[in-house]
Amino acid sequence: MNENAFNHSLFSFLKASSSPFHAVSHMAERLLHAGFMHLHEEQFWTLEQGKSYFLIRDNGGLIAFNLGSAVTREDGFRMLAAHSDSPCLQIKPRAEKLTGSYLQLGVEVYGGPLFGPWFDRDLSLAGRVCCQLADGSLQVFLVDFARPLVVIPSLALHFDRTANEGKTINAQNHLVPLIAQSLDNQLPDFPSLLKGQLAGQYPAAAVKEILGFDIFCYDTQKPSFLGINQEFISSGKLDNLLSCHAAMSALIKDDKRHNSLFFCANHEETGSVSTTGAQGAFLDSVLERLLPDPQIRRMALHRSFLISIDNAHAHHPNYHDTADPQHEIVLNRGPVIKINAKQRYATNSISSSIFKLLAGEADIAVQEFVMRSDMACGSTIGPLTAARLGVQTVDIGAPTLAMHSIRELTGSKDPHLLYRSILQFLNTNTDFRPGR
Ligand code: ZN
Repeated sequence: MNENAFNHSLFSFLKASSSPFHAVSHMAERLLHAGFMHLHEEQFWTLEQGKSYFLIRDNGGLIAFNLGSAVTREDGFRMLAAHSDSPCLQIKPRAEKLTGSYLQLGVEVYGGPLFGPWFDRDLSLAGRVCCQLADGSLQVFLVDFARPLVVIPSLALHFDRTANEGKTINAQNHLVPLIAQSLDNQLPDFPSLLKGQLAGQYPAAAVKEILGFDIFCYDTQKPSFLGINQEFISSGKLDNLLSCHAAMSALIKDDKRHNSLFFCANHEETGSVSTTGAQGAFLDSVLERLLPDPQIRRMALHRSFLISIDNAHAHHPNYHDTADPQHEIVLNRGPVIKINAKQRYATNSISSSIFKLLAGEADIAVQEFVMRSDMACGSTIGPLTAARLGVQTVDIGAPTLAMHSIRELTGSKDPHLLYRSILQFLNTNTDFRPGR
């Protein structure tokens, strides 16, 4: 796939991924289309070398793998990891808030979004709803209102003359979106709005009652190219759907001679402690089923390598003193190896060397990021997964500006460069591990 086709594939993935559940569901569709077989954790698995499989846990986590035709499982796995979630605002269980003639929805902050960019945007709602059906059974449905629906208006400058000098945003008081207005108190309740949406999306479902939901606000603005030569890509959720798309696409394009695996974790933005998070046992439990003998599993993991993919900070031209001068990261200049002495990233000199050689084989330049020494460094799922499994790991990512904004920016060459470097990892015949 060339760069342009790859970016359009990314755009359609971003548009379909209004929540982590939608992202996973869309990945499942693409994997099924590419011949992967859907496994279920509550069933026995009969697996064959040379075939491809995937499973979904709790709607938001996915593991897909190819069992290589030229190897056995004991030879280890070429592993990729990324996360399905993005910082956002999540609707509270008892969401309705009547303020005068307005109906508002109470939200909790999910992860660490920049609050400012959430104001004055055409937001919609998507997620999953758990319902009791007419026959008494429980059923989970994915919902997406898929149109501009809610908004958080800014306070006019005239009421806060210092707004441009420094603004305090209180999440409880200031981030409450408007969803409806009625001058005669004819306001709907949120569950009946959800029920109406379900009836539109699933006309055959006999929903008796909505018992619970995980619904998130998202920006309805579509991804776009920017810049005089279309050198930029602007979109919501580039962190980390850009990486999910690259990993999924590489796994599908893999020549499938070696064993490869993609772990798509949920809840990275909230600390990864969940049934589908990188601190949970999702990946361990799949590896146990692939390699039931503990000693053989240990040996296979020692022969494996993990590329953990999550976006990297590009140097911001308006904020020069936020970057280490020797490690200025630039858009469109190649994937970024992320390094931190406190192991906030799992990269070490061995794993970074392996990635440099892989990228070199594909003729791709790489960049190296470290945080300024006087600033705290973020983290990702790489160190958590490396620590759990004891697998050699490198943390990499596409360079990004405005990370954790509702609208993030990357270079238009970056998604394809990232994809090509990880496809090289899956397909190479060279064994880069030292001392072999
Ligand atoms: Zn991320």
